[in-house]
Amino acid sequence: MPELPDVEIFKYVAENATGQTIEEVDIKDKHFVDANDHNMKKYVEGNELKRVLRRGKYLFLNTKNNKGIVMHFGMTGSLEYRESDEEDPKYVKCKIRLGNDHFLFYTSKRKLGSVEFTHSIDGYISDNEVGVDALEIQEDEFSDKVRDSHAMIKSFLMDQSEMSGIGNVYSDEILFQSGIYPEIKSNKLDDEKIAELFKNMKKVLQKAIEKDAITQNLPGSYLLPKRDAGENCPRCQGKIEKIKVSGRTGYYCPKCQKK
Ligand SMILES: [Zn+2]
Repeated sequence: MPELPDVEIFKYVAENATGQTIEEVDIKDKHFVDANDHNMKKYVEGNELKRVLRRGKYLFLNTKNNKGIVMHFGMTGSLEYRESDEEDPKYVKCKIRLGNDHFLFYTSKRKLGSVEFTHSIDGYISDNEVGVDALEIQEDEFSDKVRDSHAMIKSFLMDQSEMSGIGNVYSDEILFQSGIYPEIKSNKLDDEKIAELFKNMKKVLQKAIEKDAITQNLPGSYLLPKRDAGENCPRCQGKIEKIKVSGRTGYYCPKCQKK
């Protein structure tokens, strides 16, 4: 499931198209893509792609007339830039033809995720309560939010209205690196632990982006390449265990992340 590092990679993909005119937004699956086809035609087609923005797990293609295409990648969404459309990739939901006759393909195997039109990117962010981006958030704001939260720390990290971008997978890694048990209440963490958590959050996200968001390419000291019950912990060689937090299945090491 795409999280902040994955969407940051999709941002690099979309940036190939910056400065090009968006000639056509061809929506292949009307059920999947928000059916404001009309607005795409009226406001997006014929406009130049000015810049690409990311906030949390959302990607925004901002046109020169200051409208936007909003992409969310659900469970299996992906973005490709191709020089031709001789053969479309599998599971195309939206195909964007550019002025240089290259293409952006939004693909998704499952019917989750979305491609939408918006008149205002800032308006979209506030209407959908997309919290401050996890790569952008400053330490003071982060610490205040953690101290004020009654949620379990894993749930806090995944709450997109508090802070956006982190999901089930990367929250496991950030907590593992910090030696924090996933079900500890956020407001029970002391200042030292919060500082460590903040530092590790930035470190893990940056490392993942550096590795093209391929978890298997993360260092051997990371949990993610071995994120499965019964695997050996890369730190203590104890066994990794499964845990359900707010309905999501996470993984942790009971020896390194004590209750
Ligand atoms: Zn361990």
